[in-house]
Amino acid sequence: MNRTAHGLDNFFQFTYEELQLWGQSNHLSSFTAAQLFKDFYKHALMAPRWQRISIRAKQLLEQSFSFDLPGPAHVHQASDNTVKFLFTLEDGQSVEAVLIPFNQKYTLCISSQVGCAMGCTFCHTGTQGLIRNLRASEIAGQYIRAKQWLIQHRKNNAGITNVVFMGQGEPLHNFDEVKRACHILLARRGASLAEYKITVSTCGYMPGLVRWQTEMPNVNIALSLHAPDDIRRTQLIPINRAYPLTEVLREMDAIPLGKKRYITFEYLLIDRFNDSDEDALAIGELLKSSPAIFNIIPFNPYPGAQYQRPSADRTTRFAAIVSRFGFPVTVRATKGTDILAACGQLKSITTHGIEAG
Ligand code: SF4
Repeated sequence: MNRTAHGLDNFFQFTYEELQLWGQSNHLSSFTAAQLFKDFYKHALMAPRWQRISIRAKQLLEQSFSFDLPGPAHVHQASDNTVKFLFTLEDGQSVEAVLIPFNQKYTLCISSQVGCAMGCTFCHTGTQGLIRNLRASEIAGQYIRAKQWLIQHRKNNAGITNVVFMGQGEPLHNFDEVKRACHILLARRGASLAEYKITVSTCGYMPGLVRWQTEMPNVNIALSLHAPDDIRRTQLIPINRAYPLTEVLREMDAIPLGKKRYITFEYLLIDRFNDSDEDALAIGELLKSSPAIFNIIPFNPYPGAQYQRPSADRTTRFAAIVSRFGFPVTVRATKGTDILAACGQLKSITTHGIEAG
């Protein structure tokens, strides 16, 4: 497990079921784990309401766990209410998360790694290389910290209703901790997110896709597609060379989807690279038999970026052609541009794309 400098396990590393078992083995009431999950993940309290827990349980908990969360965060707010956090971790590394507003609610985009090993050429994180995996406690901790901030600063808003793993890192390259974090966020006594409210986005990391079929809870999956053929996809996502598109799509087809569930295909639309009419037709052919939602993300240039944003007309035309194939097509609204929080603009979160709905 995830021992702190004090030699204690981090409380936020554990699933609800594990804490129940821990409580049982220590002859504690099942109420204890339920209360703590509620306090931290539902109400985002800074500390548990110890007065509701027996003295013996409190002592045992304090002897067994640390309750350290990522932080303190630097917070940047955009004029459109997007909020970007920079969280400091125990070893001095930092990661970013973004709250994206929609209809008085928020989608939280969280990170799964410090840096990333995938090296996508459109992504600043990709140029940093992988520094380390985040632990589940550091992933779930981003959720608690963001929720605490919302409660303190935007009282009238409904809070976080969706979580997307589209921040820094390739989530399936940190499979065990991402899976664990999903279980933590799904716990009914805590954050109680529905499975379809969590989306894990991958660039097509095959070992993780293979494991997904039997190991992941039934959360949503999104694929960074970005090109209709292997040559251009490899230019954008170098691991496509090892895991070509047809194999990735075949593996994704084998993932059991629930009723009315879809796979989201993210498509970074880049000026004169992958935005032609022929590309739109090729995408339509490729996805027409999948339970697909196709999400176009017009590229956001950042200083030094080698790609350009397509025109609004080109984006509209591309979307119109793909939508003829009968599956839903959306064009992602850019959020948080004045704080560099949009996809392709953050220092480290530049990624698979940020979901706004
Ligand atoms: S786009 Fe995602 S997978 Fe690719 S380098 Fe960036 S963080 Fe990693």
